[in-house]
Amino acid sequence: MNNLIKLVFVLVIFPITLIAQASKQNYKYNIDLLHLSNDEVKVSFTPPTNNLKQGKFVIPKLIPGFYQAMNFGQYVSNLVATDKKGKKITTERLDQNSWIIHDLKHVNKISYQVADGWDSLEKDTHEAKSAGSTFIKDSVFVINYNSLVGYFEELKDIPYQITVTKNKDFYASSALDYKQKNKNTDIVRAKDYRQLVDSPVLYCVPDTTWLKIGHTEVLVSFYNKKERHYSKKIALEIENILKNQQAYLGGSLPVSKYAFLIYYESSNETGFMGDGLEHSQSTVCLYRSGSMNYLPNALNRVASHEFFHIITPLNIHSGEIQHYDFLNPSLSKHLWLYEGMTEYATIHMPIKQKMISLDDFEKSIEEKIKGMKEFDNKLSFTEISKNAMERQDQYMNFYQKGPLLGMCLDIRLRELSGGKTGTQDLMLQLMKKYGAGKYFNDDDLFDEITKMTYPEIRIFFKDFIEGTQPVPLKEYLTKVGFNYDEATGKVSLLSNPDSKQLSLRKAWIGQ
Ligand SMILES: [Zn+2]
Repeated sequence: MNNLIKLVFVLVIFPITLIAQASKQNYKYNIDLLHLSNDEVKVSFTPPTNNLKQGKFVIPKLIPGFYQAMNFGQYVSNLVATDKKGKKITTERLDQNSWIIHDLKHVNKISYQVADGWDSLEKDTHEAKSAGSTFIKDSVFVINYNSLVGYFEELKDIPYQITVTKNKDFYASSALDYKQKNKNTDIVRAKDYRQLVDSPVLYCVPDTTWLKIGHTEVLVSFYNKKERHYSKKIALEIENILKNQQAYLGGSLPVSKYAFLIYYESSNETGFMGDGLEHSQSTVCLYRSGSMNYLPNALNRVASHEFFHIITPLNIHSGEIQHYDFLNPSLSKHLWLYEGMTEYATIHMPIKQKMISLDDFEKSIEEKIKGMKEFDNKLSFTEISKNAMERQDQYMNFYQKGPLLGMCLDIRLRELSGGKTGTQDLMLQLMKKYGAGKYFNDDDLFDEITKMTYPEIRIFFKDFIEGTQPVPLKEYLTKVGFNYDEATGKVSLLSNPDSKQLSLRKAWIGQ
């Protein structure tokens, strides 16, 4: 072979080898939603190419957003590993959520069955349904991948390719893009396990409506056994909120796609029950009630908070969140940011965007103050965030005291900048600095924000978020021309505000 031919040969071969290797570096999963037995779904996968003598296969013990062991491995049974020739390879179940697979380098296929986590929202088991999956063969599948798919501890941060076999009339609603291979087969890819678990899917005969908010495609997907044309009504309801959120966030949204996945179960009883789980680019809402009249209102309330999560944690988060450990997670100190600032934006946006009256805004602050009083407010917020599993009794205070801290931080920033900037600007700046792929160090965030703002802000964090000083509601509300009556919990306008108070209020809420 002369040199020229050799060179051509090398050039041609080289890229092909690269492609072949790249495609082996995936978890290749097959999930069969068409051939169920006893409400169980058959799952199988080929592990990424490796040289491991053994590997630890994990199905999550818990997932982001929950602080109690959920043990998703409990739904998995009959796990079998085989080599290329179909010969069995030894596996050992270590506990509910993990298995040792021997001779992993020779494993060609691992298969198992998964039972559904819930059949109906009816049973009053306090268990969160939104994180488990349900399979109702001819009707609907609500799939959270944490209950169907796992990973090897030795082979993390590797992409996933999932092939789903499904009823030909079913459509996959999700923040991820499902490509239809043929009428019974969809293929979806995720960049890693974290993204897959963060992207649930609703499979059913479609009742979907798409909205375009700026550059963002928003999918509203609805399932109810009888009512099959309802997504449009809900989409019209939430469109107004999302458009105002877009304006509040400076005119553009940091995601290209977002999905609302709504499962609604009719019942004969009165009352209303709901469960939901937020994700970076989607929200699962599960509802059950005797009348659908409750739905638009309930969804309106949920939609705004959940949609604001596209800012944080999606685009502003610590390493603990980016590299979440699904067996033994170490938690971030900054729930004040992820939940507190998200909820603050949810109550600040409507007044800033002139969607509500001053009266309604005062009421929303009063509600948060009243809510906060149900909790122990002498604890450090960073401490309870870091120990959220042990301090579940205090967790809900991130939605009460959290937004009030956000409000005070906003007022302080407005004061220090002469009205020019507040938390809206801070969140956008943080999003630019970090973004979806870049995390901050948990211990450095307060110093980083201080560098971006004012030295006084470090003191604010030290006193009120790391420290145990009470939220300075009266002092800060006075700065913006409001009176807070600590005895009655009433918030109202000061009767004789000075010009400084008036201009700071105008900068803060536009009136
Ligand atoms: Zn939230």
